[in-house]
Amino acid sequence: MKFIDLHTHSTASDGSLSPEELVRHAHDKGLAAIAVTDHDTIDGIGQALQEGQKIDMEVIPGIEISVDFDPEMHILGYFFDSSYMNIENTLEVLRKNREERNPRMVKKLNEMGFDISMDEVMEQAGGRIVARPHIARVMMKKGYVESVSEAFEKYLSAGKPAYIKRKMLSPEEGIKEIIKAGGLPVLAHPIYLELDFKSLDKLLEYLVDKGLKGIEAHYVDNSEEETQNLLKLADKHKLLVTGGSDFHGSFKPNIEIGVGFGNLHVPYELLERMKRYSVDT
Ligand code: AMP
Ligand code: ZN
Ligand code: FE
Ligand code: FE
Repeated sequence: MKFIDLHTHSTASDGSLSPEELVRHAHDKGLAAIAVTDHDTIDGIGQALQEGQKIDMEVIPGIEISVDFDPEMHILGYFFDSSYMNIENTLEVLRKNREERNPRMVKKLNEMGFDISMDEVMEQAGGRIVARPHIARVMMKKGYVESVSEAFEKYLSAGKPAYIKRKMLSPEEGIKEIIKAGGLPVLAHPIYLELDFKSLDKLLEYLVDKGLKGIEAHYVDNSEEETQNLLKLADKHKLLVTGGSDFHGSFKPNIEIGVGFGNLHVPYELLERMKRYSVDT
């Protein structure tokens, strides 16, 4: 059987592998295809596609957009068409929103006594997306925390002392932007929404009405029961099913591409269904 990973991050956002390295890594691990889904950017897609061609590995262009919801909601987008540049203006706004927030978080950390600067955070990021994991990584390098996740738990997660919320699109705007760029909008890791079955059912009805086309029913942090419930909801709302590990390289060191903590398996057949859908509509 052939397996894939439809949720991965590169250095274009907050992964530790370059787009090329990411594609090669997936190939080395025996995956048949990967989607590159960086946060709020398509900067890594060109390099990833090129590397895919070079080593004969199937690469799907994607994105993951954070939208305003409590707690945060993420919408994945797959397969843009030639109108994909439609999304760039919006992504520029999202980058600005991060640029507005990041120095304020660093300032809060400074006030708490941590010696870190925006220059260091930007150097850590390398690309145009500078996100909380880069702040966490600088804190780790300086010995203030032992891991990226400790930095989140103590300081950077919502509700923690250095957290500042940034401006985001609404869920319906996020879906609309992906559709405008010719992409398939998919609800990422629904379990993070912390909703019971009935509330998620209701939310899906709303999102499907706004154009949602799929749901990430196979996800690294799901229990088997959660996956089964999500598959039921996908069936009920006639949604495409996707799956992925949310691979971030050393930013999430326990998660391996394709298999997550070891028990994730996303069959190639799901990708075939997505492709059929793209062609049919
Ligand atoms: P930002 O978009 O700048 O607010 O940063 C959010 C990103 O941080 C998320 O999309 C995740 O990739 C990452 N993140 C959130 N929580 C954690 C955590 N506990 N450990 C590591 N990375 C995290
Ligand atoms: Zn991330
Ligand atoms: Fe996400
Ligand atoms: Fe992700």
